[in-house]
Amino acid sequence: MASSSSYNCPCAACKFLRRKCMPGCIFAPYFPPEEPQKFANVHKIFGASNVSKLLHELLPHQREDAVNSLAYEAEARVKDPVYGCVGAISFLQRQVERLQKELDAANADLIRYACNDIPSGIACTAGSKFGSSHGSSAEAG
Ligand SMILES: [Zn+2]
Repeated sequence: MASSSSYNCPCAACKFLRRKCMPGCIFAPYFPPEEPQKFANVHKIFGASNVSKLLHELLPHQREDAVNSLAYEAEARVKDPVYGCVGAISFLQRQVERLQKELDAANADLIRYACNDIPSGIACTAGSKFGSSHGSSAEAG
């Protein structure tokens, strides 16, 4: 390894913006030089000056979460210019709704089986497949 510890590698933001990365650079802790695409996406979608303003308005301990959120949104927006991260969110919401309905139906089936009270409609259609362990004496007669 080269022993160039005195040379400070500019952060991804300063490198992208072709400016000197000064000590205390607002971007440096969140945009390391080894992740150039992270800043490129954020800059493309939000603009470096807006991100800088936003970071200055936040408390230092909130900045990393904010940058992660911006990077996630920016990457989603680059991939999907129409819906951005809303596309992913609504896809997941639909999935949750569908799974919730499936779960409700499964729970309702469980309750019906537990009460041994299968409706005649289901019993008619499924009756040929299942064995007649459910001995009902009122068999069409
Ligand atoms: Zn910098």
